[in-house]
Amino acid sequence: AVAQQLAEASGASILYGAEVTVIDRRPWGVAVRTADGRILRARVLVNCAGLHCDRIARLAGDDPGMRIVPFRGEYYELADPSLVRGLVYPVPDPAFPFLGVHLTRGIDGGVHIGPNAVPALAREGYGWSVVRPRELGATLAWPGSWAIARDHWRYGAGELRRSLSKRAFTEAVRRLLPVVEESDLRRAAPGVRAQAVLRDGTLVDDFLIREAARTVHVLNAPSPAATASLPIGREVARRALERL
Ligand SMILES: Cc1cc2nc3c(=O)[nH]c(=O)nc-3n(C[C@H](O)[C@H](O)[C@H](O)COP(=O)(O)OP(=O)(O)OC[C@H]3O[C@@H](n4cnc5c(N)ncnc54)[C@H](O)[C@@H]3O)c2cc1C
Repeated sequence: AVAQQLAEASGASILYGAEVTVIDRRPWGVAVRTADGRILRARVLVNCAGLHCDRIARLAGDDPGMRIVPFRGEYYELADPSLVRGLVYPVPDPAFPFLGVHLTRGIDGGVHIGPNAVPALAREGYGWSVVRPRELGATLAWPGSWAIARDHWRYGAGELRRSLSKRAFTEAVRRLLPVVEESDLRRAAPGVRAQAVLRDGTLVDDFLIREAARTVHVLNAPSPAATASLPIGREVARRALERL
């Protein structure tokens, strides 16, 4: 809400629930049509559409050179949060620094446990029952997806097992919190990670920003809180101004 007030005080207008469906390049800039038929015109377009950023880049006629492969991060929470007073994290695996079940005490006093990461069957696939055949087909058609499957199937099999079996998930938690029982864990809301994957299967782990005429595409934005969102915002603004 504070960010919204600051933006509006500087002259920005924010349209909520306005899905961009068409992007047209013009000599003076970019025209965008939203699902409700509105047309918006701008001298520069900044695409920061998260799970849909590669799709938006292609709508603008640009080849992003990557695809978003969605991974669902599944979580539990502790029924008795007094078992954990701080943060309990494993030593990260350098190949997957963002993975590995860990326990995080939140500012509300609750303890969040996860993520267990599995391929999502849709970009907004927040459960196994959410399947979008076109999106799944596009993921399978990207060579990088097969390269990930080939290189990381063993790791992925463990994640799938923990997704389907609460007992297996509990075993993983017990390595960090030996006292925990299956009955201490309650399902919590999942999240979907917009993993940018290059054609050769490289999992992009840094910011990836590409530019084209009158557009700046933010194609990977990992952990803004772990880095610093203000310098990144400045960098995107600098690049947008350069496009003018
Ligand atoms: C489970 C999970 C846990 C995480 N934990 C942390 C953490 O602890 N710390 C941390 O720093 N980061 C964390 N992250 C990462 C963080 O959430 C992302 O890095 C960040 O949200 C990326 O920001 P973004 O603005 O690029 O994309 P998003 O936040 O995804 O925003 C994209 C926006 O674009 C909109 N959009 C998409 N398509 C269209 C369209 N066609 N038209 C109009 N609008 C559109 C969407 O509605 C959305 O509002 C976590 C991510 C996940 C999945």
